[in-house]
Amino acid sequence: MAKTFRVPEIGDVVAEKYRIEEQIGKGGFGVVFRATQIGMERPIALKTLLPQAMAHEDMVERFRREAILARNLNHPNTIRLYDFGHTEGGLLYIAMEFLDGKPLDAILKQSGPLSAARVKTLAIQVLKSLAEAHQNNIVHRDLKPANVFVIQLVGEEDFVKVLDFGIAKAFDAEGDNEDARLTKTGIGFGTPFYMAPEQVRGRNICPATDLYALGLLMAECLTGETVFKGTSSMEIAVMQLNEAPPPIPEWVLRGALGPIIQRATQKDLRLRYPSAIEMLRDLRAVDLNATMDISTSLNTRDIVQQADAGRSKLPLPLVLGLVGVGLVILLLAGALVAVLMLGGAEPGPPALAKATPPATAEAPAPLEPDEPDEPDEAQPREETPAKPEGRDPEAPPGEAAAVEVEVVTQPEGAQLFDGEELLGLAPLKVTLAPGQEERVVTARLGGFKDAALTLTPAQPTLRVELEIEESAPERAATSRRARPSTASSALADAKGKDKKGGDKPAGKDEKKPDNAGGGASTISIPKL
Ligand code: ATP
Repeated sequence: MAKTFRVPEIGDVVAEKYRIEEQIGKGGFGVVFRATQIGMERPIALKTLLPQAMAHEDMVERFRREAILARNLNHPNTIRLYDFGHTEGGLLYIAMEFLDGKPLDAILKQSGPLSAARVKTLAIQVLKSLAEAHQNNIVHRDLKPANVFVIQLVGEEDFVKVLDFGIAKAFDAEGDNEDARLTKTGIGFGTPFYMAPEQVRGRNICPATDLYALGLLMAECLTGETVFKGTSSMEIAVMQLNEAPPPIPEWVLRGALGPIIQRATQKDLRLRYPSAIEMLRDLRAVDLNATMDISTSLNTRDIVQQADAGRSKLPLPLVLGLVGVGLVILLLAGALVAVLMLGGAEPGPPALAKATPPATAEAPAPLEPDEPDEPDEAQPREETPAKPEGRDPEAPPGEAAAVEVEVVTQPEGAQLFDGEELLGLAPLKVTLAPGQEERVVTARLGGFKDAALTLTPAQPTLRVELEIEESAPERAATSRRARPSTASSALADAKGKDKKGGDKPAGKDEKKPDNAGGGASTISIPKL
């Protein structure tokens, strides 16, 4: 006999701890309630699958995945999940943080385009949430305005919570098969409006896939309209594959956020931001009062060359300003010398007793003054002054001392492992124990080949340029959890090399262009 399910009603107590207060929304496959956690008397959001979805294996799996993948995410800009289980009526439920605010799609509908300052603030927080997810090898895959919730916190305006990790997946090679299966069922689809070409093809999703979505989302916030316009998912998906570059209005690209949006929305993975950390760093450094010279910022070759050189260019006005200040100082110094010589006075001690380090283009950008003051693993590490030759100067002469070797990867943000131990993200100072002659670490970054690096005390800084992964590695099957991404075939796709059925969009939901449902996965999901 078929099992009968029952949706909770107002006043019901679910799992003996959540009292249902009101229904706050209904999605394609689930319903969301505001509830009170009995005992703690705090509001929570309780999401249950709808009875019809319980019969749908993919939906059940998507729901379980949302709970399982998100349980490792703790960033304040990510929705917090509390609990997962079955209601008395047999439905799966997730209990999560109740968000008192509005999703970005509702804000855009209500207020129209947002200012660049607001878009910057929102995007920075989305990037922090993504950076943590990517660090956990999770790609969101369904970033869209409806999944960016904006809440008002005391002392904070526009505090972001990224939600709905329902079709998120761990990025490893196994996902390819899964996406092929989902194509058949027609539900393994994110939102084509924000979908990178590699996701449309249903293969090789990597962190940069989310950054593409964020770039389009930022452009939409500035204009109030989606970048791609079409009447069906299929039409938009085809545009995502074929329209290069995305049709972002020229005035957006000319604005202060333009170069960032442009780099995030590159179809070619080699030109796109490889990591949320890098995009975050650039976004933080944006001066909203400066207008960019589009003729230089639009040149994607420049972007690659800049990335290769591992440093960003100083804006022209700043360079001119520095040159000007230098000239003024020289003139003043010359005048002072002339006065002293003419007057026969004894020259005093130099005004600066200590040499100050020169400002460089690589100095980390200061934090925004209005930045939320929360702990943030995603922020770039602060540089500490390098010890001479990497050796501890305080160690007694003749005795071996611990030595720090700074590892700098290009692109930045690669995870550095010693065996299975994650040491942190590059650039990073790695310590060699006293007397240790070498230490081997592995640098890993989605879309790039792993690089084994041998650190020795003789080399205080080790710079490595990571190689783009050109071919699909079989090794991903053997070591999945610690793997970065399999962006290789996406790269081949972007280069037009892989033609084996790869040009077919992965989903076919014609009726619901802005949200064609979620997906499931073949990644092994531990039983709860
Ligand atoms: P789908 O998940 O099928 O794409 P959806 O995003 O519309 O559809 P849900 O995620 O189920 O559906 O959300 C339904 C409604 O509940 C939305 O309006 C959403 O903003 C709201 N909502 C979801 N989670 C929360 C939460 N934690 N706190 C407050 N409101 C929430």
